[in-house]
Amino acid sequence: MAIVFRNDEVFEVGPQVWIRNMVDNAAWADLGDGAVVIDSLEDTESMETQIPADVRKTTGKSMRWLVNTHWHPDHIANNAAWARMGATVIAHESCGAAQSEANGQPNITFSDTYTLKGSEREIQLEFLGGTHTPWDSVVYFPWAKVLHIADLFGWGMIPLSRFDPAKIELLRKHLARVLEYDAETYIVGHGPLVKPEHVRRWLTYLDWLLETVPPLAKAGQDVDQICAAVPVPDDMQDWWKLPDWKHRHNISLLLKHFGG
Ligand SMILES: [Zn+2]
Repeated sequence: MAIVFRNDEVFEVGPQVWIRNMVDNAAWADLGDGAVVIDSLEDTESMETQIPADVRKTTGKSMRWLVNTHWHPDHIANNAAWARMGATVIAHESCGAAQSEANGQPNITFSDTYTLKGSEREIQLEFLGGTHTPWDSVVYFPWAKVLHIADLFGWGMIPLSRFDPAKIELLRKHLARVLEYDAETYIVGHGPLVKPEHVRRWLTYLDWLLETVPPLAKAGQDVDQICAAVPVPDDMQDWWKLPDWKHRHNISLLLKHFGG
């Protein structure tokens, strides 16, 4: 199935769940007595007013809640502005303590799971932190079978700032948990929508990298040599930005860890 990146388009991901599909995605849902928005992006200039307008146009309601999947600058930039507009901010308890220049710290925090109940629908939050960031949570829209997994999946990219075997094991556990949800579509922090088959494929790609790259790194090969020996698999050539830079980024990450 072709991967479609509908850049800067607003569309329905499932019943009553929308996205403005961009490099930094904004997603929202109509819960009945208000709309909930997931993540507040990096761009404050145009998106501060654009997303609330999108929400109003698609749901007929105002943004009542804002959920942050994690406390990275590209997911929280409009927190303060949207809190001023009346949104209640919800995030994992670790986000409350996170240092950030941005205001708009969470009003409601949770430890393991949290259910946000609207008058017609509810969403379920689950903390799956400790890999991409200490703070990551996923958000399930059960009626639509849509799961927001934020940056736990990066269209091929190993979502760690440096390679760490313990974090890789935890990431495998988290992605196994993601696959347990009865979801048909995943929203991610960046780029096109994802299907469960992509997550499964990424796990085998990761196994393959971990099998092929370390011996070459230990033999003293550089990143160009390893990229030539371990090219992007044919069936992943259309993965968003993977051939452009993410595959090479992954190899560099492994090289730093396993190289001499
Ligand atoms: Zn991100």
